[in-house]
Amino acid sequence: MRAEILTIGDELCRGEIVNTNSSYFAAKLWDLDITTRWMTSCVDDAADMTAALEVAVSRADLVICSGGLGPTEDDLTVDVVAALAGVAAVEDPAARANLERRFAGRVAITPVQLRQVRVPAGARVHGNPGGLAPCFEATIRGVPVICLPGIPREIFTIFDGGVRPAGRAAEGQRGPFDGGGLLGRLAELREARGNVERVARTIYRVFGRGESQISEVCRGIVDGVPGATIHYQVKFPETLVKLVVRDHDGAAAAARLAAMDGQLRTRVGGFLYGTGEENLVERVGRRLQDQQTTVATAESCTGGMLGEMLTRLPGSSRSFRGGAITYANDEKIRQLGVSPDTLVAHGAVSEEVVREMASGALARFGTDLAVAISGVAGPDGGTPEKPVGTVWLALASARGVTTKKIGFPGARDLIRTLASWWGLRMIDEALDG
Ligand code: ATP
Ligand code: MG
Repeated sequence: MRAEILTIGDELCRGEIVNTNSSYFAAKLWDLDITTRWMTSCVDDAADMTAALEVAVSRADLVICSGGLGPTEDDLTVDVVAALAGVAAVEDPAARANLERRFAGRVAITPVQLRQVRVPAGARVHGNPGGLAPCFEATIRGVPVICLPGIPREIFTIFDGGVRPAGRAAEGQRGPFDGGGLLGRLAELREARGNVERVARTIYRVFGRGESQISEVCRGIVDGVPGATIHYQVKFPETLVKLVVRDHDGAAAAARLAAMDGQLRTRVGGFLYGTGEENLVERVGRRLQDQQTTVATAESCTGGMLGEMLTRLPGSSRSFRGGAITYANDEKIRQLGVSPDTLVAHGAVSEEVVREMASGALARFGTDLAVAISGVAGPDGGTPEKPVGTVWLALASARGVTTKKIGFPGARDLIRTLASWWGLRMIDEALDG
C-alpha cells in the first residue's frame, strides 16, 4: 500500500517551521506496514493545493494531508478537497456543537470561526479531541484522502484517539473510530485493500563502530533472502542497523527475519548492545533501576556528561548516587583519594589514575559500581605518547576494576561525547554480569 503525505502551509515552504508532521505520519504509517512513497509540501494556494492533490491521488493508494483546516482566509483545505470530490463544503454538526461548548459565554461565534467546522459533504468525520477543526476523510477518484489540522499536538491526539478531554466537551467530537483513533481507521483501510505486504523488521543498535565498518561486516547478509533489505542509520554516536523483510505472508516474513538474526549478531559481535527503540542512555538507566544497582561517577575530561546522562530518566535517584567532577589533579587527590605519587609517575591520563579514581568513587559513594574517565579532549595538551583523543576509562565494582583505553579521532566535543558513551557502555557490560 503506497501512501503520499501532503503538508500544506506557507510557513513550511518558507522554512519558518520544521516539517515534523511529515516524519510523524511516515513513522505511524511505517508501523502499520504502509509505505510512504512520496512526501510533498505546498503553500496555502488553492491552485497549488489542487494540483498537488491531483498528483497524489493519481499515484498513491492513500493520502494523508495536514494543514489549512483553520478558520482564517488562508485555510483552504476543506474547499479544495470538496471541489476535487465534487461536493459542497458543509458544517459538521458535532464539530459545531463542540465549538459552541468551548466558546460558550466567552467568545462570540462569528462566520469566520464557523469556517473551521466545515467538512466536504459526505466525508467521514474523525473529529479532533484536542481542537476545533475536525479531521475528516474524503474520497477523491476512489482514493481515501485523510485531512488533519496542522498543529502537531492536535494530530497526536487524533492518531492515538485515547487522550480525550474529560467531560461534556468531548461528547460532540465522538467519531466513528472512537477509542482506536485514526490508527484504527488506517489499519482498517489497509485490510480493506487486501493483499498487503507485511513488513517484519528488527532494529539492531550498535555503539563503538561506525556505519562504514558495520556495513562492511554485514555485507551480503540479505543476499538471496527474498524481500530482505538492510539499512544503516547514524544516530550519533550510535549506528542503527535495520533488517527488513517484506512479504504478503507476515509469518513468512518474520521467519526469514529470525533466520538472519543469529548471523547478524555474530558478525557485529560485542558492538551490538541491544535491539528496538531504546537507546544506550535509556537502556542503562532502565537496567540500573531494574537490577537495583547503584552507580557513581568520577569524571575528568567529560566534566559531568556521564552523570548528566545517568540522571536523564525519571527515577534515576534510585540508581545514581552522585559523581565527582575532578578536573584538577588536586581534586583527584582530595575528592577521590588518588595518590600524588601515581599522578606524578603516570600522569592524569593513565590506567593507574583511572583505576584509583574509580576505586575512590566506589568507596566514597558506597555504590555497587563506579566509572572513571580521564582523557585528553584537546585541542591542546596532546603529546606523542598521549595524543589528543586518548581516553582511559575504569569501572570498579566488588569484583575488581576493569579498564579500557580508547583513541578517539576528532574534535573536543566528539571526544567528550564518545568518552561518556563508553562509560555508559562499560556500565551496560557490568550489568550483564
Ligand atoms: P490553525 O487552526 O492554527 O490555522 P491549521 O489546521 O489551519 O490550523 P496551519 O495553519 O497550516 O494548520 O498550521 C497551524 C500551525 O501548526 C502552524 O503555525 C505550525 O505551528 C504547525 N504546523 C503546521 N504544519 C506543520 C508541519 N508540517 N509540521 C510541523 N508543524 C506544523
Ligand atoms: Mg491555519
